[in-house]
Amino acid sequence: MARELYTARLASKTCISESAQCYHFDFVLEDIESFPFVSGQFISAVATDPNGKQQTRAYSIASAANVNHFELCVNRVPQGFFSNHLADLTDLPPGGTIQVHGPHGHFILKQPVTDSIFISTGTGIAPMRAFAQWLFPASGPDAGIDRSEGKEIWMVYGTRHESELYYREEFEALAARKPNFHYLHTLSRADESWKGLRGYVQDHVARIVEERAARLGQQLPVPAPDPSILPSDLKFDIYAYICGLNNMVASVREKLAGFGWHRKQIIFERYD
Ligand SMILES: Cc1cc2nc3c(=O)[nH]c(=O)nc-3n(C[C@H](O)[C@H](O)[C@H](O)COP(=O)(O)OP(=O)(O)OC[C@H]3O[C@@H](n4cnc5c(N)ncnc54)[C@H](O)[C@@H]3O)c2cc1C
Repeated sequence: MARELYTARLASKTCISESAQCYHFDFVLEDIESFPFVSGQFISAVATDPNGKQQTRAYSIASAANVNHFELCVNRVPQGFFSNHLADLTDLPPGGTIQVHGPHGHFILKQPVTDSIFISTGTGIAPMRAFAQWLFPASGPDAGIDRSEGKEIWMVYGTRHESELYYREEFEALAARKPNFHYLHTLSRADESWKGLRGYVQDHVARIVEERAARLGQQLPVPAPDPSILPSDLKFDIYAYICGLNNMVASVREKLAGFGWHRKQIIFERYD
């Protein structure tokens, strides 16, 4: 079945990391008044490459649903086609356009909201930003609503260098505003002057899991669930959401499996 293609016009583009050549994009869909999606979903972007071949790439939406806008966070990939095509789009009026279809994907929050750990590296932060905006809307008609229901939300974000911590000010401001939102950013190649967290995301996730279990008096590793319960009926009081390149996703899944976490508790999106 042919998918409906929409024209998305670039309203603004901001370089959010020179060193990583990462850009934040705000697109507006010209043909429709409303573009409903669930935070965490992605769009498929379509364009023709220099050889005349149609190329399609997935990009997580980096914002919560907002009328007919959607935002993206994309870094240039050396020798890549689509990432560079986007980064080279002009945002001078009237703005460059791309064709998109969607929304797509099942990387969305479990309902009702539970304690959650959002784990990402690099542009894997995109759907996490959408989750955070949905949970704690700061602007638009829903501004001020808190959908977190008081659950503890940890945002664990890893990059190599400080200059690659995308949206850092936004998440720090949110953490200052919401005591149940915890923003942990860690650098794997920090220089000596860095005073914050170091190392890989999975190590900080492990600490969160251990401290939470100790606080709640829960046993680790977690005992296996009753085998008579269907996997689709299993409910957990905490979920992990992981997004980024496969190596990182695999390392975090392995770490959580070591704590006895069930595979249904670990929701992930791989970019490669
Ligand atoms: C569900 C989903 C959501 C995604 N969301 C985002 C997003 O929000 N932001 C974002 O920047 N990307 C995202 N991606 C990745 C994106 O779809 C493209 O793969 C990426 O932009 C590279 O495309 P390209 O055409 O520039 O490179 P290509 O021409 O496809 O590839 C060029 C070379 O780079 C390698 N490569 C491909 N992707 C990457 C990568 N991500 N990092 C390093 N090397 C790579 C390829 O193996 C190839 O050798 C997502 C992928 C999926 C599956």
